[in-house]
Amino acid sequence: MAQLIDGKRISQEIKDELKEKVEKLKQEGKRICLAVIQVGEDPASCVYVRNKKKACAYIGIDSESYELPGNTSEEELLALIEKLNHAGHVKGILVQLPLPEHMDADKVIRAISPDKDVDGFHPVSVGRLWIGETGFLSCTPAGIIQLLKRSHISIEGKECVIVGRSNIVGKPMAALLLREHATVTVAHSHTRNLSEITRRADILIVAVGKRRFIGTDDVKDGAVVIDVGMHRDEENRLCGDVDFETVSQKASAITPVPGGVGPMTIAMLMNNCVETVYRESNGKPKDI
Ligand code: NAP
Repeated sequence: MAQLIDGKRISQEIKDELKEKVEKLKQEGKRICLAVIQVGEDPASCVYVRNKKKACAYIGIDSESYELPGNTSEEELLALIEKLNHAGHVKGILVQLPLPEHMDADKVIRAISPDKDVDGFHPVSVGRLWIGETGFLSCTPAGIIQLLKRSHISIEGKECVIVGRSNIVGKPMAALLLREHATVTVAHSHTRNLSEITRRADILIVAVGKRRFIGTDDVKDGAVVIDVGMHRDEENRLCGDVDFETVSQKASAITPVPGGVGPMTIAMLMNNCVETVYRESNGKPKDI
């Protein structure tokens, strides 16, 4: 049976470290405030927003909520973002996705000041990541790097395969693994002989969005398997993109769903919020 990579424990460890940093910052008179904007009442978004606000309260970060009705116009949303961009006390701005269909999410993301882009989705943050400059990191992939490092799994020189090339997971994951000196392959829906490629991986990261898509035949003996997927199975239990039951017999280490990648995303969002203060004072983030 593979070693379980415990995202619950590691995310708690990170949140406790951040709580300590925030306490010290408060003693220096520095406060952090995250503005959370939600448009409409998508049930999943309501849960995510609630959890983000709960994490803020735990760490000692102030949060301001903007719950806008689903029929809010794009102009109204852009005007609110502009106001928050200029609000000195607001250090981070988060717009919960998905947005209603009448809004252009790319335009909304671009409206957020890159200095307050705690989700790391702004093209400036993405560009900084790819050219190796410090910038806000996309939270889920940054969380995966922390899972590996804090589980003492080395990345340097490893053959890493990512299945999925989304802007929020697959692509930034590739950039972060390159930064850690891995050899990286990114597979997607047009990839031929996928199984042959995934079987090469020392570290396999799966972000496809398909229930139990990766099985035991797709994984090399002793591989490290990171499952980003999040679904409900036939019995309404949470499960991932990887068939955990069988793959955990072959892998050397694996993330469970739930309790693997999921809790790391919010922990890294909190880390980005804390970084806003270090950036403000010396233009550089403090290493996590
Ligand atoms: P996405 O935007 O739907 O992207 C899915 C990717 O998988 C695409 O690049 C797609 O390829 C690729 N793909 C689809 N079918 C494939 C196939 N048959 N073979 C190879 N590649 C295939 O999804 P996402 O936003 O990255 O999310 C992926 C999963 O992670 C979802 O289950 C989501 O709920 C979960 N997630 C979890 C967290 C967390 O915090 N735990 C955060 C984000 C996402 P093309 O580009 O060619 O279409």
